[in-house]
Amino acid sequence: TRTLLWFRDDLRVEDHPALTFAVHAASDDGDVVGLYVLDDETPGIRPLGGAARWWLHHALLSLADRLRDLGIPLLIRCGPAAQQVPAVVQATGSTGVVWTRRYGGPERETDASVKEDLRGRGFTAHSFPGSLLQEPWTISTGGGGPYRVFTPFYKNLSGHPLRELLPVPKPVAEYSGVQSSLAGAGVSLGAVDDLDLLPTRPDWAGGLRDRWTPTEEGGQQRLRQFVDQEGDAYTRARDVPGVQGTSLLSPYLRFGQVSPLSAWTAASELDHEPSASTFRSELGWREFCWHLLYHFPDLPEKNLRTQFDAYPWRTQAQEPDVFRAWSAGRTGFPFVDAGMRELWQSGHMHNRVRMAAASLLVKNLGIHWREGEAWFWDTLVDADAASNPANWQWVAGSGADAAPFFRIFNPERQRDRFDPDDVYVRRWVPEFGSEDYPDPLVDLRASRQQALAEYQQLSGGS
Ligand code: FAD
Repeated sequence: TRTLLWFRDDLRVEDHPALTFAVHAASDDGDVVGLYVLDDETPGIRPLGGAARWWLHHALLSLADRLRDLGIPLLIRCGPAAQQVPAVVQATGSTGVVWTRRYGGPERETDASVKEDLRGRGFTAHSFPGSLLQEPWTISTGGGGPYRVFTPFYKNLSGHPLRELLPVPKPVAEYSGVQSSLAGAGVSLGAVDDLDLLPTRPDWAGGLRDRWTPTEEGGQQRLRQFVDQEGDAYTRARDVPGVQGTSLLSPYLRFGQVSPLSAWTAASELDHEPSASTFRSELGWREFCWHLLYHFPDLPEKNLRTQFDAYPWRTQAQEPDVFRAWSAGRTGFPFVDAGMRELWQSGHMHNRVRMAAASLLVKNLGIHWREGEAWFWDTLVDADAASNPANWQWVAGSGADAAPFFRIFNPERQRDRFDPDDVYVRRWVPEFGSEDYPDPLVDLRASRQQALAEYQQLSGGS
């Protein structure tokens, strides 16, 4: 028997339930074939942003290498998954397909229809957990509904037993044998290069290459370094963007190169218990965002609190200069500008600065959170369909368990508190303090008053 393993946001071989199942199913003279489909065409499935595409390219090359050691070729395809997957099942002579579940609305619909289609044609199709600590339908309030507030959600989540961490499986077959059988059936592997995921003209990825090792091994090393060297200072250092105080695991978690269970489990190796708990609760926020998306599939587009539908946010098209200054890191607020430049150059931004940058855009500059969310979607290597909109809605005040609207971050105060010596600011804004650095784009006090006044106008605003 041959099992097809359809990879999506689970680009690893360690702690991979679907892979473990497929390898087990192949133990009597069978084999496993991997598949990745770049799907920019299925309506509703959001095409990846530029930085994420860069990451994906390398993640796929790394996955193909690791799978080769297990005797599993990785096929690369492009197009609507609902057509590509059944076609590959047929062409490869597979008896069935396995995959790790996804939780976005359109993704779930696609997977359900692929499953139905395959089963209708006599193939097997099985989905597995692997991208979250717990399946979203297993965590519910006493009344059976989804949580909208993090603290009780997290308490419930933490009380659930975890599955076992899975080792890398043993090799299934001879790689060359499987490859020649595919070639004999006229099935080409396809090349990652053909997906055109890398930027060319211009090649803006230099800063990303300098900062990241976007492979599964790179993720494991990052986790090791965090646990062995940095993690015990997490509670103290995690809010200080000038030091290396957070795990930097987010893109690895995004692409499933590190499983959330590995990260959660590794936290028990920290000696400093408060740091271990705080780190785990951050993984809990990731989980919360994904559970929200599962229950509220409109999260990326719509205010969860509909009273915000009446807030008079402006669009990028209405305020092109303001939006350009914000996105280019030229607002005249150095803490935010440093963050926006860190983002542009390295594909990442420190969480404390993400909150300040988002607040400035949404509350002081009066631009819709969706515009900022879309910019982050394109530029973050960790951009994901749940954490990005959930956090934007948190900052905007329109989300579940959101910051109260009147809590408006003051970027100057944030700088005083979290970067008092301008270590972070000077790293990313070398011209800070010179004539070349712009004046503030907006009066913080007046714009704050204006935002609060707009908020008062909303029905139910208080
Ligand atoms: P650590 O502090 O080491 O945290 C460990 C892990 O916990 C992270 O890797 C991440 O998976 C998770 N995590 C931590 N904080 C959050 C949070 N607030 N929400 C969800 N998960 C969290 N995170 C993303 O992964 N993708 C996004 O698209 C994203 N967009 C954001 C947009 C805004 C406006 C804001 C304010 C935050 C956003 N975050 C997003 C959350 C957070 O900023 C990043 O997860 C964090 O900065 C990643 O760095 P780290 O891995 O070093 O974090």
